[in-house]
Parts: sequence; structure tokens; C-alpha cells
Amino acid sequence: MKKTALITGISGQDGAYLAKLLLEKNYKVIGTDRRSARGINWRLERLNIQDKIIYEEMEMGEIYEINKIFNKYKFDEVYNLAAQSFVGTSFNSPLNTANITGLGALRILETIRAINPKIKFYQASSSEMFGDVLEKIQDEKTPLNPKSPYAISKVFSHYLTQNYRESYNMFAVSGILFNHESPLRGEEFVTRKIIKGLIKILNKDLGYLELGNIYAKRDWGYAAEYVEGMWRMLQQKKAEDFVLSTGKTYSIKDFINKSVKILNLKTKWIGKGLKEKLIDTNTKKIIIKINPKFFRPSEVNILKGSSSKATKILKWKSKTNLDELVKIMINDEIKFYK
Ligand code: NDP
Ligand code: GDP
Repeated sequence: MKKTALITGISGQDGAYLAKLLLEKNYKVIGTDRRSARGINWRLERLNIQDKIIYEEMEMGEIYEINKIFNKYKFDEVYNLAAQSFVGTSFNSPLNTANITGLGALRILETIRAINPKIKFYQASSSEMFGDVLEKIQDEKTPLNPKSPYAISKVFSHYLTQNYRESYNMFAVSGILFNHESPLRGEEFVTRKIIKGLIKILNKDLGYLELGNIYAKRDWGYAAEYVEGMWRMLQQKKAEDFVLSTGKTYSIKDFINKSVKILNLKTKWIGKGLKEKLIDTNTKKIIIKINPKFFRPSEVNILKGSSSKATKILKWKSKTNLDELVKIMINDEIKFYK
């Protein structure tokens, strides 16, 4: 029997990779996006799956639209990926973030409870929930300490997912995913911003790149691998939460150093604090500057996850290391650079 899956946030990075994976597994894939979406999207085109998905409009703020989609299709699995997903924006739009990222998940859970509590539900939770970390290495048991309206909204939907599982015996799981990147990553996120910026500079389309806190550290994996973990979570006998991570942590500065090396740029760092700069030693021009505009009112300084539970139960492991990930992102950025 062909399974039917709903992916909310089909136009995003993970929506595209997950849709590709589910299509390969012979699922019927319904992908929803907010009203403004026109179905076709560059990420789905890049993966060449744009004609294989059934598109529906569904604004996460509107319970009527959510109900309509759940009455139209009989879903086996629902992957709730739609969110206001950018931490930076969440400080400027906390109410919208709470409504879409937090309450949006509750709207879906309530709809599933009312229409068919047997539908399996995946919630896209985030390592940002660990915030100002309370343990050196974070796993499923680490206490949460969120530091942004985004992370607080994700904590809300994480606990509701657990609560619906316990209260109504629903197959609802929360995947706590550490940062995962790819050529399909949004341009506002630091990895893609760095790579796109450096390639623009090399093409003389940009003078220099401005960044915020380059000393923050993240556990960065490859998005195409993380969607496999999401799917495996819903194929288990028992619904439970899992962390997906690489177990390695690097600073933004490390990420920049790896990127310039792969691009064959000869560079050096000079100055300190707000005056710190990356210089091209051939041209003597500034490549990267610090701009406090990109600092966050409250920062998450370091994240480092352990996905040993996922390795043991899901047989899932991150395979692509950061050097390989940077290469994948650079190669695609050059290939599709306009
Ligand atoms: P993206 O930002 O690429 O995608 C988010 C999706 O949500 C887009 O399709 C977006 O649509 C949609 N969306 C935003 N607002 C609404 C709304 N009001 N109604 C309906 N849809 C909306 O995120 P990713 O693919 O990177 O991440 C997927 C999920 O996983 C997100 O929930 C994110 O918070 C979470 N996550 C991601 C991590 C990562 O490292 N990538 C780490 C941990 C968790 P539109 O194109 O119109 O903006
Ligand atoms: P996040 O972990 O979900 O917030 O992912 P981001 O890619 O947006 O940010 C990762 C880290 O990079 C955070 O600690 C940011 O403060 C830091 N950072 C430094 N400069 C920038 C920048 O210019 N843009 C973004 N998005 N992040 C930056």
C-alpha cells in the first residue's frame, strides 16, 4: 500500500530533501506552504522533483486551512517542518514566531487528535532549545534553556508533542536536530551567507561581507542525511524523541577559514573585537568585517550534540564532515552562480 505523507514547509531546505526521500520510498507526497507560495520552488526544481508533489496552500496560522487539508487527504505520516525558522528574525517578530513556530504545531496536533489520532506526527525541534547549554554535550535528557523567541517557541511545540503522545497515546515524536546545512540552506543563515558572500566577492559582485559573532560554535551536519533520520523516527514501533547531530563543534571563524582555503584565497585575520577583519593578502582588500547589526540580543555560544541514541535505535549516523560539507556547498554555489 502506497503511504501518504504531509510535509508542511515544503518550500524550505528540509522540505525539499525530505520530499525527495519520501518519493524515492514511493510515498504520495502532499506539500504545503503558505498562501504566497506558488508551488514551484527553486529548491524542488534543483532536486528535480517539482512535478512529483501535490501542492496545497496552508498558512500555519489558520486552523480552517489546516482542517481543510486534513479532511481532503488520508495521511499516514505528517512532518511538521513549517516555521518562522530564523533566530535573528524571531527577536524582531516574536509574536509571529510564537504563532507560527509554536502555536502552528499545536494546531496540527489538535487537528490530528480530532480527525485521526492514528496519524504519525514528526515535530521539527531544534538544538537551539538547549540555548545557554546546561551540559557540555547535549542529548535527549539535557535540560532545555532557550535563549530566543524562536527557541522558546520550539520548546513549546516540543513539550506539546510529548504531551499529546502521553495524554492521547498519539505517535508523536520530536526530532531535536542540530544545525544542518546544504546548498539549499536559506541565504540568511550564516553558512550559506559566508559561502555566497565569498563567491560574490570573487566575482566582484560584492566588496566585503559583514558578519556578527564569529566566535559562536555550532554542530553542523549535512541536511540531506538528517531527513533520513526524521523518516526513521516515524518507522519505529515506539514513539520517542531523538537528537540528530555530528558530535563535533566548530566556530563561525573555523567555517570561514575552511571556506577560504577551499576557494584558494590567501587571507589573514587582523585586529580584535569589532575591528577584527579578514584581509586578502594578494589584493590587500578587506573580505570580512564585523558589524554589530548581526549580533543577537542574546546569543547561544556553543552547541555540541550526541546522537548515540539515534545510532543505537535508528541506526542513523552523520557521515559528511564539515570539510566535505563546505566543499559540497561551494561547488553548488559556483555551479548555480548567476
Ligand atoms: P526553512 O526556513 O528553509 O523552511 C521553513 C518553511 O516553513 C518554508 O517552507 C516556509 O515557507 C514555511 N513557513 C514559514 N512561515 C509559514 C507560515 N506562516 N505558514 C506556512 N508555512 C510557513 O527551514 P528548514 O527547512 O531549514 O528547517 C525545517 C524545520 O526544521 C523548521 O521548523 C526549522 O525551524 C527546523 N530546524 C531546522 C534546523 C536547521 O538547521 N535547518 C535545525 C533544527 C530545526 P516560505 O518559503 O514561504 O517562507
Ligand atoms: P542558528 O544556530 O539557528 O541561529 O543559525 P545561524 O546560521 O543563523 O547562526 C549560527 C551562528 O552564527 C549564531 O551564533 C549567529 O550569531 C552567528 N552569526 C555570526 N554572524 C552571523 C550573520 O551574519 N548571520 C547569521 N545568520 N548568523 C551569524
